[in-house]
Amino acid sequence: MKPDPVWGYSGSMIETESDLAPDTLTEGYRRFKSRRFPAEHDLYEQLSKGQQPHTLVIACSDSRVDPAVIFDCAPGELFVVRNVANLTPEYCPGGVHGVSAALEYAVKVLKVRSVVVLGHRECGGVRACAHGLDEAHSEFLGPWLEVMVPAREEAIAGINDVREARLCERLELVSIHRSVERLKDFPFVAEAIKGYGLELHGARFGIATGELEWMRPDGSFETLSDRR
Ligand SMILES: [Zn+2]
Repeated sequence: MKPDPVWGYSGSMIETESDLAPDTLTEGYRRFKSRRFPAEHDLYEQLSKGQQPHTLVIACSDSRVDPAVIFDCAPGELFVVRNVANLTPEYCPGGVHGVSAALEYAVKVLKVRSVVVLGHRECGGVRACAHGLDEAHSEFLGPWLEVMVPAREEAIAGINDVREARLCERLELVSIHRSVERLKDFPFVAEAIKGYGLELHGARFGIATGELEWMRPDGSFETLSDRR
């Protein structure tokens, strides 16, 4: 028997509920609503009154690198903005800048204690830039990755072996460092560093190993111990 038709929010007639969303998502949502949500209901009730995340994470859009999973954080702890290759753009007032808007809100309104640029190994955006953007030409992706070109030049200058894997590995780190440095060009970030001690950090996640390398103040990286 056919279920009663329902109206989708686009206003078009939808035949069945299953047409509303992909099965993987609806099934996942039902698990969340029946298991996790009841278990964490008090937390969600509290969060409905407002958020006070301690950290802004600027992470890659890559499906394998979820900041809340890597840092084992609960809802409400991280304010997250993700983009291809976890880039911080140049400070450029005016226009439409999603990352800059998220940064402004996190720092000026939420007053997060720290900003973390979270990169990762095997980053497709970094690999596209390492190739010289030849394969990245597109309406939006190519221009976006051009933000990384100065980092690419620095990465090439810093190594003798420019074979792809070595260059990508180096560029991932240099680009994280440069994204952190660009944050300081935003006047409200500089003010927050002086005013309330906002901290800026960089890190790279190793997908295959789970290893996390944390950036030192000089831009080099060391592996975080997984034990206290
Ligand atoms: Zn990536």
